[in-house]
Amino acid sequence: MSGPILLPGATGLNGDGQPTTLGVMGGGQLGRMFVQAAQSMGYFTVVLDPDVVSPAGLVSHYHIQTDYLDQQGLVQLMQRCAAITTEFENVPAGALVTLGAARPTAPSADAVAIAQDRIKEKAHLALSGVPVAPYAVIETPEQLAAVTDDLLPGILKTARLGYDGKGQVRVSSRAELAVAWESLKGVPCVLEKMLPLAAECSVIVARGWTGECVHFAPQRNLHREGILAVTEAYEGNMPTALAQKAVAAAKNIADELHYVGVLCVEFFVLAEGSAEREALGALVVNEMAPRPHNSGHYTLDACDVSQFDLQVRTLAGLPLVQPRQHSAAVMLNLLGDLWVNGATPPWDAVLALPGVHLHLYGKLQANKGRKMGHLTVTAATPAQANATALQAADLLGIEAF
Ligand code: ATP
Ligand code: MG
Repeated sequence: MSGPILLPGATGLNGDGQPTTLGVMGGGQLGRMFVQAAQSMGYFTVVLDPDVVSPAGLVSHYHIQTDYLDQQGLVQLMQRCAAITTEFENVPAGALVTLGAARPTAPSADAVAIAQDRIKEKAHLALSGVPVAPYAVIETPEQLAAVTDDLLPGILKTARLGYDGKGQVRVSSRAELAVAWESLKGVPCVLEKMLPLAAECSVIVARGWTGECVHFAPQRNLHREGILAVTEAYEGNMPTALAQKAVAAAKNIADELHYVGVLCVEFFVLAEGSAEREALGALVVNEMAPRPHNSGHYTLDACDVSQFDLQVRTLAGLPLVQPRQHSAAVMLNLLGDLWVNGATPPWDAVLALPGVHLHLYGKLQANKGRKMGHLTVTAATPAQANATALQAADLLGIEAF
């Protein structure tokens, strides 16, 4: 289904005098920031999420508290809203099929189904004009036995339901590979060759119902233990030629999928002088996320239009404008580790620094590795943004970057 234009605010079209309502599957922090962007434009919002205290459910006009596949929940969602989006890729594609038959739903069930499955995803990403890491599909003991030595050392990744480095095991020998596959219960996996990384980056694009596409400049990302820790977003964070190549590849991927909504594509930059870079080129495409992305949170504070504004605009069929970044930015993720000793982090000291924007997601329980919030530092220059972000990291006990 393509999308009508859903103007914000009370339009009288609903007959009940209520503003146009937008829905989101999933109630995590991404849903929360979508809801906040939609509300600031005058939309009402509905969140479907089973969790009573989901970050998005807590701030939405309506919260349908059912499982993602609950038929009654889905019917209520369709009745309540004019169009529906999703905030995490593990929403069952079947639910999106049901919703998409009745309401404009973006991204589509097809696009989400590809992003949910690393095997389908890799085949698709390979069409982008940038190569993927050499890999093998492992779904059977025969495929396990047939793995070639050139993929070792490597990373065994489950085809489905992985995030923040979960469902991944690093292996350096065939024996370790066999043990790792068993530890993952023999589910479908891909084994990826371990690549020598000089850097990682991501590109966020937003594509509308009629195929127009805008983008943010590539963000440079630092991961720790498989979880995004720091994003540096400013001119010069990447060599220009690589940045252009990454943006073009991300747009190709969105076009190939006839994608509608916000899409993030993650890339590796390979180490100079390595044999892998010799063979594959400098840039390798890693994976995509069919939604706004943690590496784009800086856009809330450093750009004139954020990734969540663009998610609202794509869903509602409103004009897409090329975002302009007005400040250099560094984003630090705030993980539950900061709270583990039971103390509140020293927000007062951090907020005394210039250009600090604190975002907490309203999560009531802080666990190790859980994303509780993020902090963006904006500044006139990259050097200033980095210096202040390092001070903030030091105050919070986050390792320097
Ligand atoms: P998320 O969804 O949170 O981005 P994920 O769990 O889906 O993460 P990946 O993006 O596949 O996992 O991998 C997590 C991190 O592990 C990467 O950002 C990178 O730092 C490292 N990594 C993954 N694959 C490779 C590889 N082939 N070679 C080297 N490092 C890798
Ligand atoms: Mg990733």
